[in-house]
Amino acid sequence: MPGFRELLSETRKRIREVDPADAEPRLGDATFIDIREQDEYEQGTIPGALFIPRGHLESWIENRVTEKDRPIVLFCASGIRSAFGADTLQQLGYQDVVNLTGGFGRWKNEGRPWITPAVLNPEQRTRYARHLLLPEVGEAGQQQLLESKVLLLGAGGLGSPAALYLAAAGVGTLGIVDMDVVDTSNLQRQILHNVDRIGERKVDSAKKTLTQLNPDVDVVTYDVRFGADNVLEIIDGYDVIVDGTDNFPTRYLLNDASLLKRIPVVHGSIFRFEGQVTVFAPYEGPCYRCLLPEPPPAELAPSCAEAGVLGVLPGIVGSIQALEAIKLLLGLGDPLVGKLLAYDALETSFRTFKVRRDPSCPTCGEHSAPIVIAEYDDLCLPHAIEPPDDDG
Ligand SMILES: [Zn+2]
Repeated sequence: MPGFRELLSETRKRIREVDPADAEPRLGDATFIDIREQDEYEQGTIPGALFIPRGHLESWIENRVTEKDRPIVLFCASGIRSAFGADTLQQLGYQDVVNLTGGFGRWKNEGRPWITPAVLNPEQRTRYARHLLLPEVGEAGQQQLLESKVLLLGAGGLGSPAALYLAAAGVGTLGIVDMDVVDTSNLQRQILHNVDRIGERKVDSAKKTLTQLNPDVDVVTYDVRFGADNVLEIIDGYDVIVDGTDNFPTRYLLNDASLLKRIPVVHGSIFRFEGQVTVFAPYEGPCYRCLLPEPPPAELAPSCAEAGVLGVLPGIVGSIQALEAIKLLLGLGDPLVGKLLAYDALETSFRTFKVRRDPSCPTCGEHSAPIVIAEYDDLCLPHAIEPPDDDG
């Protein structure tokens, strides 16, 4: 039976090791993994390092580092725990693993870059406990959500469930654009609001509800009409936009502006008993104009106000939008890019249709003219580079 020293020296023969001096140039290229305990990690780590405590290494690694040929630099405090860890990763099929000799202690003593990572406080660790259990989210993912910014267009039927779930999930900044006031007829589906808020600005009512749900969330309100004059300024700096608008000119305006700013849009729409969701990832997948080059004639596209909508439906569609937004923020799974999800509430069926990028799309196509942001009329056509002379 080998003792600890023999076991360590046998293990060292099977792995490769690097000095901090040789490891530092690999920052940004290799994945550095810190396998120490939470309290050690909190006091400082190597910038950009993935944190996977040794006890979770085997069970989490395949979700956190999906490519087995990805270069990995493993470290602990002194290089001993990570020597055993490196051996284990090789057994799991990771082909390019090195152990950092001397660990974080030597790295730091040699004056190499290190940071104090942002960590969750005890209250947050309790609040987000169910996220922390998911290796795909974990502490790093939760921290990322807290640093993320999502803009919601509309605090109505779709915006209500989306905002509630995004706030509950701990998305740190939620912007909400809405210029309406709460009306009794909204309450059948717009669950951000309640009877005490009738007559109140929707953005104010939304902010109260969301702040009560999660004080971690900074709710930024835009009590304005979303138009060509302010769209670029409003959407600037957001990571994802959740579109819950119900009119075509606004959707086309958002499409063109989000392409310019390269911000993904999670689009949702509802009509009577049917809902649709898709994700527009600028220049990666189709845009709204690829999907719908021009708006349908008004008589074929009545709004909810004209045609009605079953109250629970926006709850389902808006919740899917919130989930897609979180997937985009965390890089999880396959978002609905190039796919349109259609939900039929009466049949209880979900169908997914492929949507392709249109090479001749007037806004995201290969030969499209530069995008000009301007108010759209009912035809929603992209504007010419030189807007026609104003005859009024
Ligand atoms: Zn397009």
